[in-house]
Amino acid sequence: MGNNVMLQAFEWNLENNGKLYVQLKQEAKQLKENGFDALWLPPMFKGTGQNDVGYGVYDLYDLGEFDQKGTIRTKYGTLKELKELIDELHKYEIKVYADIVLNHKAGADYSEEFAAIQVDEEDRMKEISDVYNIEGWTGFNFPGRNQKYSAFEWNFQHFSGVDFDQKAGTEGIFKIVGENKEWANDVSEEKGNYDYLMFADIDHKHPDVQKELLNWGEWFVNFIEIDGMRFDALKHIDISFIEQFIKHIEKNVERDFYFFGEYWVYEESKKSNYLYETKYHTDLFDVAFHYNMVEASVNGSNYDIRKIFDGTLTKEHPMMSVTFVDNHDSQPGQALESFVEGWFKKIAYGLILLRKDGYPCVFYGDYYGINGEDPMKGHKEMIDQLLQIRKQYAYGQQDTYMENENLMGWVRHGDDAHPGSLAVLVSTGDSGVISMFVGKDQAGKIYTELTNNNDHEVEINDKGFGEFEVGPGTLTCWAEKTQ
Ligand code: CA
Repeated sequence: MGNNVMLQAFEWNLENNGKLYVQLKQEAKQLKENGFDALWLPPMFKGTGQNDVGYGVYDLYDLGEFDQKGTIRTKYGTLKELKELIDELHKYEIKVYADIVLNHKAGADYSEEFAAIQVDEEDRMKEISDVYNIEGWTGFNFPGRNQKYSAFEWNFQHFSGVDFDQKAGTEGIFKIVGENKEWANDVSEEKGNYDYLMFADIDHKHPDVQKELLNWGEWFVNFIEIDGMRFDALKHIDISFIEQFIKHIEKNVERDFYFFGEYWVYEESKKSNYLYETKYHTDLFDVAFHYNMVEASVNGSNYDIRKIFDGTLTKEHPMMSVTFVDNHDSQPGQALESFVEGWFKKIAYGLILLRKDGYPCVFYGDYYGINGEDPMKGHKEMIDQLLQIRKQYAYGQQDTYMENENLMGWVRHGDDAHPGSLAVLVSTGDSGVISMFVGKDQAGKIYTELTNNNDHEVEINDKGFGEFEVGPGTLTCWAEKTQ
C-alpha cells in the first residue's frame, strides 16, 4: 500500500441530514492534497430507518434509491449522490472502500412463527428452554423495491437466530430449530459460540443464502465502482463463507480490489489463526495496537512505552495490518468504548502515520471532531501536519530506540526518491533527549522540528548522530532544515 493513508469517513453521531456524500464530494480534492489515498465510507445500505448508522441493514440492494423504511435516502444521502461522490473521489485518485454488513438483517417486513430454543446470552451453547414456537421478525420481501435487481425474499429458514419473540414479548437469544439449523461452527468461540451478534442472524450455511449473497456481491461491486471492502463483524460470520465470498468477488471484478475487516478481539493468537484460515486474503484492523494505545493514554507515565507494539498485528503480520487510533465503535458512548485520551492523540497518530508498518486509517472523529451531546473537537491541524510529514519523509529503513519506560524514538532513513532522514521522538513522561543516528551523509546538517513543538536546532555530528529533544507527554519530528 506504499505510503497510502485511508480516512474512515464517518463517526457514530453524524447528524442525520443526508449530507455526508455531498460534503465529502466537495472536499475530495482537498482530502487528496491533505494526504488521503482512500476513503472507507459508512455502510451505504438502507437500514432500519433514516437515522440508522448503517449497521442495522434492511436491504443490501437499496443504496438510497427506494422508498423503504420511511425514506429514500440513507443517513448519508441518495444513490445518485453516492455515485457522484465515488466519481469525484476517483477523479482525484482516491480509492473507495465500502463497509459490508453480512452478519445480520434488521427491520423485517413481517413476522413469522417458527420453532426455536432460547440460549444463555453468556454461553450460546447452553440451551435454557424447550423447543417451542416463537414469532420472530424474519420476513423480508422489500415491497418498496419491487424485486428490482433481485427477486430473492428472506424468511426464517435463511436465519439462525433472533433476539425477540413477538408472541410472548420476550427478549433473549433464540436459536432457530430445524434441519441443518445450528450455530456456525467456524466463528469466534467467545460466549461459547459467537455466531449470534444482533438482529436476525443470517445463516451462511444455507445454500440459497450463499447463492443470494454471492449474487449480491457481484452486483454490488459492478453497480458502484468501489475499490475495496471492509467486512463488518467478521468474528460472527462463518470463515468458510467469507473465503468463498472473497474468491467470488475477485473472480468477478476486473480491477485491483482490497479486502480488510473487523475482527474485534484482543488476543493476537486468535487474529493470527483467522488470517491463516482466510488464507490472508483479508487484512485486519490492529485491535491490540489500539488497546495498547488506550492503555498508554490512560496510564501516562505509569505505562511502559516499550510494550506499545507487544502482541500487535503490526508486529506479527505487518503486511496484513490496518492501524487505527479510534473508530466509530471505540468513540465515547459506543459499543466498544475505549477511546485514546486527547493528550496522547498526537503520539498515537505519530505511531500509526510515521512508522513503516501497517496501513493507517485516520478516524473522522479524530479529524473533524465528534458530534452529539458531548461534542469533541477534532485534531485536523495536527493530523494534517503528520500526514504531510508522512508523505514527505516517512520512507525507507527504520531504526527504533526504546530508551526507557517513557521515552522512545525512531529514525526513517528515506529512499532514493525521498532522500534525507526523519527522526521522531515520543515522551509519555518528562522531557527527554535521545541520541539517534540519521546517517553519516547527514553530518554537519542542521535538523529542525517540523510540528512547531521545539525551536532548537540540532546539528548532526560527524558520526551521523543528532541529540534530539522531546517535551513532556508529546511527540517531536525532526528533519533537515529547509530554509
Ligand atoms: Ca452470525
